[in-house]
Formats: sequence, C-alpha cells, structure tokens
Amino acid sequence: MTRREKKQPNPPGQCIFCGKRGKRSGEHVFPEWFSKIVPRTEERHHSIRANVVDHTVSPDIAFIRREGDIASRKLKAPCKECNQGWMSQIETASIPILTPMILGQPITLTAEVQQIIATWTTLKTLVIETDDPKSAAMRPQAAKQFYSDRKPFNDWKIWIGQYTGTTWSQGKRMIHNGAFLGPSQMASVKNFGQCERRNIQTTTICGGQLYIHVFSTTVPNTFYGFKGRLGDVLSLVHPYGGDISWPPKVSMTDGDAGQIALSLAAVVPTRGTAA
Ligand SMILES: [Zn+2]
Repeated sequence: MTRREKKQPNPPGQCIFCGKRGKRSGEHVFPEWFSKIVPRTEERHHSIRANVVDHTVSPDIAFIRREGDIASRKLKAPCKECNQGWMSQIETASIPILTPMILGQPITLTAEVQQIIATWTTLKTLVIETDDPKSAAMRPQAAKQFYSDRKPFNDWKIWIGQYTGTTWSQGKRMIHNGAFLGPSQMASVKNFGQCERRNIQTTTICGGQLYIHVFSTTVPNTFYGFKGRLGDVLSLVHPYGGDISWPPKVSMTDGDAGQIALSLAAVVPTRGTAA
C-alpha cells in the first residue's frame, strides 16, 4: 500500500541532541565522503516502513516515493552547532574505517575500531528514527543521552555483514522498522495504530559492501539474534565479542539482506508476553 503520511518531526526547531531551539541543519545519513565512493546515481528512491504485528509483517507496509538519490537526503534533526561540531568529529573518525569496509578491502576490526563503527551507527540510527515519528521506538531520551555520553548504548545490538548481492544495486539502502511488542490481544492491525508508542525497532543501513543492522527495544528480557545461515553472514560489533577480520569469510546474498532487514517479525520475548 502506498500512502502519504503527515510529517510530525520533533518539537519544531528543537535539536534532538542538545535540545537547543532554533534553526536546525540537515544531516546526511549517507555523508558527502560516502558519495565520493558510491556516487549518487538514483533518480528516485523509496523509503520503506514495515509494521510488525504478532511476529508477522502486516500488510501495512508503506512505500514512500521520493525524488533524487537517497544519499542526497538530509534529515533535519540536529542543530548546526551539533552537526558541525561533535557529530562531524564522529564522522571524520569513521572515514578511514568505513571506507575500506564499503569497498570490501581488508581491515582488522579491533575493539577500538568496532567502538568507532558502533558510535557512528548509533548516531545515524538516532537521526534516521526522526524520519518517521510514527514508527519511533527508542527511549525518548536516547538522543539526549548520546549527546552527553557519545557512546553506543549498552542495551543495543549492532551487526555488520558484507553485502555482495545485486538487487540493492544502487549501493545504498536504509530501512527502519518499528514495532509494538506486547500481549497478543493488543497486537491486531486494527489496534496497532492506536498504540501509544512502538517499543522495538531495527534499522538497516547498507552502503556499498557494508551492511549494518541495528536492534533496540525498551522491553526487558527480549531476545533478538541470528542463527544458522544469517548468523554466519553477520558479525556482532556491539557489544564487542572479539576482533573481526574484514571482509568476512561468508558474504551476504540479496535474500540474506532482505530477510535480516525484516527479521523483526521473528522476535521472541523470553518470558511469555512482554507487556
Ligand atoms: Zn544541538
């Protein structure tokens, strides 16, 4: 189903990080340096939002068509000061690490390097979530906490994989899924839109050969992970579980990429219902 949704950004003119009111500046999800490696060639792109109800991707999948390359998009979440200050420092620190990963060139990902990847990813995920307030599922204070700590959150999980498929041929994608995890009697498509706030989300960012998948939830004791083939093509960079050689031994197909991006449908609460 294609439909347009009213945009309801954060309080008008307020920076999601420092909270300062005033003019906000656009943050590229795919920054300028990225476009030097993977050129902007798309004439149009689609943002995809999939709702997940009762472990099933509901028919309420929204495709929002936008003109131009996805890398040209800017999200007006931060103020100019944040964007050109500490955010720019995070961007600069990540360039020498993300560049070889995007190109599939060898690099050893130590604990320190994985921390840089996870910090960059957390920043982008916080910004991406503002693009669709309806499916926002993080703690409302998450951006403010990141602003003061500048560290990935302890309760998030971030995986990487090497994408070598052909369907996502323009070399970049971003997919955000927000879901409501709760007692099954509440999880009907009819009631779904009335839930106050999503409480679980995944965000997938793919640039060149680098595929990043992020998970967070505000529901305690929720298990989310990958086994078998999907476990083989992904490596956890946050929390740190050991050094990683890049590129990995097993790369991802288009099937893997799509399945992981929509895998929120298979999330399992460890204790019955997770109300
Ligand atoms: Zn700010």
